[in-house]
Amino acid sequence: MGTATQPTIALEGGFAGAVPELAIPWQAAEPPAPRLLVLNAALAEEVGIDPSWLRGPEGVGLLTGTRLPDGATPVAQVYAGHQFGSYSPRLGDGRALLLGELRAPDGRLLDLHLKGSGRTPTARAGDGFAAAGPMLREHLVSEAMHALGIPTTRSLAVVATGGAVRRETTLPGAVLARIASSHLRVGSIQYASATGDRALLRRVVDHAIDRHHPDLVGTDAPALGLLQRVVAAQAALVAHWMLVGFVHGVMNTDNMTLSGETIDYGPCAFLDAFDTSTVYSSIDTGGRYAYGNQPGIAAWNLARLAEALLPVLDDDPHRALELAQAALDDFAPQHASAWRTGMLAKLGVRQDLDDPDAAALVGDLMGMLQETRADHTSCFRALTDAALGDDQRLRALLGASPGFDDWARRWTALGPDGSAMAAVNPVVIPRNHLVEEALAAATEGDLAPFERLLDAVTTPYVERPGFERYAAPAPEAFGAYRTFCGT
Ligand code: AMP
Ligand code: MG
Repeated sequence: MGTATQPTIALEGGFAGAVPELAIPWQAAEPPAPRLLVLNAALAEEVGIDPSWLRGPEGVGLLTGTRLPDGATPVAQVYAGHQFGSYSPRLGDGRALLLGELRAPDGRLLDLHLKGSGRTPTARAGDGFAAAGPMLREHLVSEAMHALGIPTTRSLAVVATGGAVRRETTLPGAVLARIASSHLRVGSIQYASATGDRALLRRVVDHAIDRHHPDLVGTDAPALGLLQRVVAAQAALVAHWMLVGFVHGVMNTDNMTLSGETIDYGPCAFLDAFDTSTVYSSIDTGGRYAYGNQPGIAAWNLARLAEALLPVLDDDPHRALELAQAALDDFAPQHASAWRTGMLAKLGVRQDLDDPDAAALVGDLMGMLQETRADHTSCFRALTDAALGDDQRLRALLGASPGFDDWARRWTALGPDGSAMAAVNPVVIPRNHLVEEALAAATEGDLAPFERLLDAVTTPYVERPGFERYAAPAPEAFGAYRTFCGT
């Protein structure tokens, strides 16, 4: 059990104070029988909370929002958003709460946020709760993303509520405690803009700048500066996703952060077979959020951000439009450059980004992957092995492609650095069949498979004896994978 005292945790209410129009004061529901399922002790230390205290009753009270430090002002955030392309003027934390911001020992100001903590005034038809499986899934996948070096919200803990949640079946309920550099979204700006209150929009922009880009405070065009920074952060983020084969699945504008952290692990999944048209989400029938569409959708979402910012970009509407367009035009080259840099690193070559041979090498590899539908993660690891002298696995995966021998000759001639490749091409990603297996066991009360998978995915670059099955693609029998939003 936890130690009796934790040096006081201060939860600031910076967001609620700065933009109360986007914050509804609210309380978490009391869970009937809370029980800690998983605690991220390393993250707890990093944010300055004693993990052993968090394991005790007071800590679990913090993690479920029911025992908060004096002065805390939990709020449900209000935002708008384009969901699958159609605009909803009023969304918000239907089952989530921002408990407040905490100051980490390293000086960062971080949101402490809950998901699954009961209905709020923006719950619409939802019950306000979350099932344990999907919350454990967010824990697992967000921690895997972090270990892969990809900006993301973090999971501090998952607590079983002891209550039942009705979905297609009755499932155990849980609350996820999440840490993020903020929960400001494209949809937060859209909401403020749609009120028509320019002063409110300015305040939201200023708050975002305070949180993420304090160097822009006092500059001539802070809103434009913010737009440019969000464009750059998202261009880099989506390039990261593409390089590891991550499919977010629900890139609505309310699920795109201003910080550039990946958020909202609902229907996400990782590619097995490489195919740009891959869609996992059962509700994404048109393939809007397919793997290969993600850069284009990010650009579309950023255009919605730019539109929402128009009133504060410049007093002259024509000038505002020009500035917005110029900022948006940066997305494609920035994304392409981040992606190409990452891809050349995955291939272990140090060619110039504009080198046509390097560009052809990358393009031809993508063509072979698409044609063979080879396992994405295994292919890059097999390339790593090949650069280290053993091309057996690579030949087994891509050898059937007519262009392979020529491609391999051109690549080898560039002298790929196998040990550099081993540091950027993961051995382990959260494989869909293993995630499902672990969550099914956890839902039945057995957390051992989840813990072992978490261990595997949070050390993604290491080949470890005994962990071979975590590196292997799904067996044929697993079939086509489907994910669900209504979690
Ligand atoms: P998502 O696409 O998962 O980010 O969810 C879209 C919106 O629906 C968010 O504003 C959520 O807070 C809300 N929501 C999702 N599930 C529930 C639920 N079970 N109860 C209340 N609100 C929910
Ligand atoms: Mg969301």
